Amino acid sequence: MTVFFAVDIGGTSTKTALVDDQGTVLDKRSFKTWRHIPLADFSQGMVQALSEGMDAIGLQRRDIGGAGIGIAGFLDLNRGTVVEAINVGWANVPFIDLAQDALKMRVTIDNDANVAALGEAWMGAGRGARSVLCATVGTGIGSGIVIDGQLYRGVNGMAGEIGHLVVQRENGYLCNCGMHGCLETLASATAMVRLAQQVQQQGGISPEIMIDGAKTVMDLAQHGNPAAQQVVQEVAHWLGYGLSLVANTLNPDVIVIGGGVSSAGEAFLGPVRMAFLETALKRVSEAVEIRLAVLGNDAGVVGAGRMAAQRLG
Ligand SMILES: [Zn+2]
Repeated sequence: MTVFFAVDIGGTSTKTALVDDQGTVLDKRSFKTWRHIPLADFSQGMVQALSEGMDAIGLQRRDIGGAGIGIAGFLDLNRGTVVEAINVGWANVPFIDLAQDALKMRVTIDNDANVAALGEAWMGAGRGARSVLCATVGTGIGSGIVIDGQLYRGVNGMAGEIGHLVVQRENGYLCNCGMHGCLETLASATAMVRLAQQVQQQGGISPEIMIDGAKTVMDLAQHGNPAAQQVVQEVAHWLGYGLSLVANTLNPDVIVIGGGVSSAGEAFLGPVRMAFLETALKRVSEAVEIRLAVLGNDAGVVGAGRMAAQRLG
């Protein structure tokens, strides 16, 4: 049995784990991160989490086969650099070199959505499936494609950027990427909040309710507020439509939906499926199952462990 050090870097906290090659999480920790965290502080947090984890389960450095690290942002895997990671404020950082020096082991990195997709495909909702599309719906929409157990990255790591499929060509909202009308401007948690605030201004939702997140909207919908139900339906509808475009291209056997918005469960998944059926080819929709993610916050570290095992093991 080989154990790998898995790291999932977030804007407010970074999760770490020791994961074995069977997908078992043997130890789990986290340390605080923030925007513009100096790399020296980040490395120190990582080294400390590793050594505390090894102590807790009685492992030595030689028992660890390497480290897999998931990072939200654009990466250059050939050069091993972080081109831009907005939520920690890093740009053009020779990340693999720095991490290998700090951890004294081999390191591999990938985009956080890819890593989470690998986790879900390996041990989560996509377990046993041959081709899995995993979409994480939160502030934006991240996704990863796993075929026969391997991440499909594309020529420079941009495969699976489904959040930036332009689905509204006229009068679309401005997206973080600079284009207008991207799927994530219509089908993310951010979109749900914006839409609910518009409905509130039109009187559909009481002005006393503070709409500060998608959870507020989904709770209102669950408690029978028809305007909020409409908003959740509309967001789900856009997501189902976007997924059908990808499914007609990939013909996957499983589509996994994770992230904050998926916590609404069937109330969200139902309308996603309905919209999907309207625009997916019949033979595509007959062959695919749309499921909720099951690993939750662990998807990132489980996938990072798997990635390390595949690339360094
Ligand atoms: Zn975009």
